[in-house]
Amino acid sequence: MEEKIFICKNCRKEVSLNAVGTRNRNHCPYCLWSSHVDKKTGDRENFCHGLMEPIGLTFKDEGIDKYGEKRQGEIMVVHKCQICGKVSKNRIAGDDNPEVILAICEEINRKEVKRQLFGK
Ligand SMILES: [Zn+2]
Ligand SMILES: [Zn+2]
Repeated sequence: MEEKIFICKNCRKEVSLNAVGTRNRNHCPYCLWSSHVDKKTGDRENFCHGLMEPIGLTFKDEGIDKYGEKRQGEIMVVHKCQICGKVSKNRIAGDDNPEVILAICEEINRKEVKRQLFGK
């Protein structure tokens, strides 16, 4: 299989589109920024092409367990398009930078705690 690469528009690193375990890669593993190219996952049919900022993390909804508690699924990155404002959730890939994922998590928590303590 021919190796497909793209240059991340945010950090300018070269990203392989078909590394192991990265089917439908839609974001950069180094900075987690994405590009608005899909209408539906993997179709590459959106022509917006805006840069999508990783604005938060959430967990895949796995329903309710037998005790009525919400089951916590795998980590999803929440992306927001800087041009059209579309928000989408994406699975993280096996080679995404864990430090960057943690940094996003800390940044979100810090912002929320600050908002509650000091108002906006
Ligand atoms: Zn990048
Ligand atoms: Zn867009």
